[in-house]
Amino acid sequence: MKNTSLSEYSPDFEEAKARSRSRLTEFLSSMPKDLDSRDDVIAQQLRCDNSSAKSKLGKIYSLMAEVSQAVQPYVACGKGCSDCCKMNVSISIMEAQRLAVVSRKPMAVVNHPVRHSAEKFSGIPCPFLVDDVCSVYEVRPYACRSHYSFDITAYWCHPERSHKGEMSLLQMGGARQAYEEIVLSSCLHGFADIRDFFPD
Ligand code: SF4
Repeated sequence: MKNTSLSEYSPDFEEAKARSRSRLTEFLSSMPKDLDSRDDVIAQQLRCDNSSAKSKLGKIYSLMAEVSQAVQPYVACGKGCSDCCKMNVSISIMEAQRLAVVSRKPMAVVNHPVRHSAEKFSGIPCPFLVDDVCSVYEVRPYACRSHYSFDITAYWCHPERSHKGEMSLLQMGGARQAYEEIVLSSCLHGFADIRDFFPD
């Protein structure tokens, strides 16, 4: 079921927790072996790759696009459901620059990592969200490509529940490690919220 409104959220936290865990387990056991293997080696491969940081980031994004395809039957995520675009979205400077070029939005200068409390942007839409749809979908940052709600509704996407930290999250350990290494090894290192770069 897609695009479930807040009023339709299940009241049963424990039931939703078990359902989320079960759907993640189902996905992991059905995940194409090839995809799993490529996640295992991507960080190592990119360490030996002489291409630019931008090109390496593109390779990680491609892997995550395959994950996105594979994960669809197990998640509530779909076009028009944008609750996860109304909470903190941590991105790198490199990604912010790409968004600025594509969107032609002015980008604020952020020279140092910025940390916020988990609730800082709860309920505040990402500046790239237009009519509940991502306007920069093709170049959306890693954080947006790696967040899934393993459930049949958007139950876990409500900030109050999401912040409890009990929803089952997909850990693509290799892709995450590769992403962090690329960001931290570039001269544009550091993370901040997408709204720090684009304070609408
Ligand atoms: S960049 Fe797109 S997917 Fe990511 S939070 Fe913003 S609107 Fe949502």
